[in-house]
Amino acid sequence: MIDQSLAQSALPSTRYERGIALGIEKFEDIVRVAPWEWEVPSCSGETVYLANLKHSACSCPDRPPAGEVCKHETAARYKKAKTATCIGCGGRFLHRDLYDVGEDSLTFFEGDVLCGGCASAHGVL
Ligand SMILES: [Zn+2]
Ligand SMILES: [Zn+2]
Repeated sequence: MIDQSLAQSALPSTRYERGIALGIEKFEDIVRVAPWEWEVPSCSGETVYLANLKHSACSCPDRPPAGEVCKHETAARYKKAKTATCIGCGGRFLHRDLYDVGEDSLTFFEGDVLCGGCASAHGVL
């Protein structure tokens, strides 16, 4: 299944579509390990590649032509778009599972989000 909202924002590309498919299939295994750095498993699941979204670089052997990125980077961007980082525990959660901290919090800044566990721990819920 191709995510239509993401697919329409980019030029059609087999590499891109494979990246979205990888992002959906391996969603749980795509992990942010450092700012801009994401671990993305290969399609077979045997290898894990490191994609850097800031420098558009990936440790895989694919060398996409100008204007394209490898499917691991696309997969990582897909997960990044679908999720956000809980500032309480640093975990990555779907937007629908996160809570806005709100303007009146003294501990957090507006725009910060917390997962359900951290939200109740901090009395935000
Ligand atoms: Zn790659
Ligand atoms: Zn949390």
